[in-house]
Amino acid sequence: MRKKLGIIDADLLDNGTRHPNLACMKISAYYKDKGYNVSLLDSYENLDSYNLVFISKVFTFTKVPMTIFKRGICKDINHPEDSLKKNIRIGGTGFYYDKAEDLPYEIEHHMPDYSLYEDYILEKIKNGEPRSRYVDYLDFSIGFATRGCFRKCDFCVNKKYNNVFIASPIKEFFDESKPKIYLWDDNFMASPDFNSILDDLIATGKPFQFRQGLDIRLMTGEKAMRLAKVKYYGDYIFAFDHIEDKDIISRKLELWRRYSNKSTKLYVLTGYDSQDEVDIKNTFERIKILMKYGCLPYIMRYEDYKNSRFKSMYIQIARWCNQPQFIKKQSFRQYCEDNERYHRMKKKDVVKNCACYQTMLDFEEEFPDIAKEYFDLRWEDLNEYLKK
Ligand code: SF4
Repeated sequence: MRKKLGIIDADLLDNGTRHPNLACMKISAYYKDKGYNVSLLDSYENLDSYNLVFISKVFTFTKVPMTIFKRGICKDINHPEDSLKKNIRIGGTGFYYDKAEDLPYEIEHHMPDYSLYEDYILEKIKNGEPRSRYVDYLDFSIGFATRGCFRKCDFCVNKKYNNVFIASPIKEFFDESKPKIYLWDDNFMASPDFNSILDDLIATGKPFQFRQGLDIRLMTGEKAMRLAKVKYYGDYIFAFDHIEDKDIISRKLELWRRYSNKSTKLYVLTGYDSQDEVDIKNTFERIKILMKYGCLPYIMRYEDYKNSRFKSMYIQIARWCNQPQFIKKQSFRQYCEDNERYHRMKKKDVVKNCACYQTMLDFEEEFPDIAKEYFDLRWEDLNEYLKK
C-alpha cells in the first residue's frame, strides 16, 4: 500500500491566504516522486492516519491548535520541536522566524507541485468564489531566483544570510503552462546576478513580477533601463520604509522616472518607528514625495499601530492610499468628506459622524499644522511627472 503524506498549509487553514505555500508545493512534488499518496489537508483531525504530516506556516500570527503537539500541551509554542508527534514535521518562518531550517536540498530544488491546491480551489470556485481570488495559485510559476539580504532591517524576517545569492535557476520552478511568473526574492536589486537572472526571465517569454518591495536605494541607471524594458506584470513595487531615506529615495525615483513611466508603487511602512503624530506626519511626508513622482503609496501597518491612540488615523490613511481610485482622485480631506456624505446618504437620521470623517476632524483639531500641510494634497496636482 502506498504511504500517505498529509500537507497542512496552516496559514490557509487559519485565515485563508491568497498565496500558495511554496515549501508545501515542493514537499508535495518530492514525495509524490517517492511514491507517496499526497493530500492537502483541510483540518487537523485524524493526523495519525498519515505516515507523515507536514505543517508549514509563513506568518507568526497564524494559529495552530495545541493538540498537534505531543501528548498534552506544548509549553513553548515557539520551540515545539521537542514535543512533536512522531509523524508530524513543522517548518517555516511562522514557527521559527529567522531560524527556520532550510528544506533538504533535494526538496528545495524540486519543481513545485502546482496541482497541490487544485481540488481545494475547484471546490471554492464551485461554491461561488471568484476565480480571480485564486490567480496566484492558478496562473503563476513561483520561486526564489535569489535569496538573502545584507540590510537586516529590524522588522524583517530576512536575517539569516549576509548577502544575496542565487537560490534557484528559473528553469527549476518555471512551468510553461502557467501564463505568468512571480518571484519572492528578498533583495533582488542587490544581486550580483541581476542581469543574468533578468536574461533568464526574459527568455521564458512570460510576464513576471517581484512580489517583495524592490530596494530602490540600489537603483542605477543601468538597472532602471533594464527593468523598465522587461515584460513586467502589474505595478513595479519598491519600498519606502523610513523617512530618513527621503533624499536617496527621491533621487532614485527621479532616476527611475527617466526610464519608466509605468505604474509604480512603494510600500510605506507605518507604525514601526513610533506610533504617534510624528509617525503620522512622516507617513504623509512620504506620501507627498511619492505623489510628486507619480507613484502610488501602499501603506503597510506594523502590528504596533493597533496600540496607538491614532489607530483609526492609520486605518483611514491606509484605506485612502491602498485603493488607487481614491488617492489618484482625492485629497485625504476629500476622501474623508466623501465617506461622511455616503454615510449620511445611507442613514438619513444619523446623528454621529462616520469614523473616517471624525478621525480626520479629531486629528486636525489636535494637530492643525500637520493637517494644514498634508490633508489637502492631491496626487493630480503634485504629480510633476504627469505634467511633463
Ligand atoms: S531590505 Fe527588505 S529584505 Fe532586506 S532586510 Fe530590509 S526589509 Fe528585509
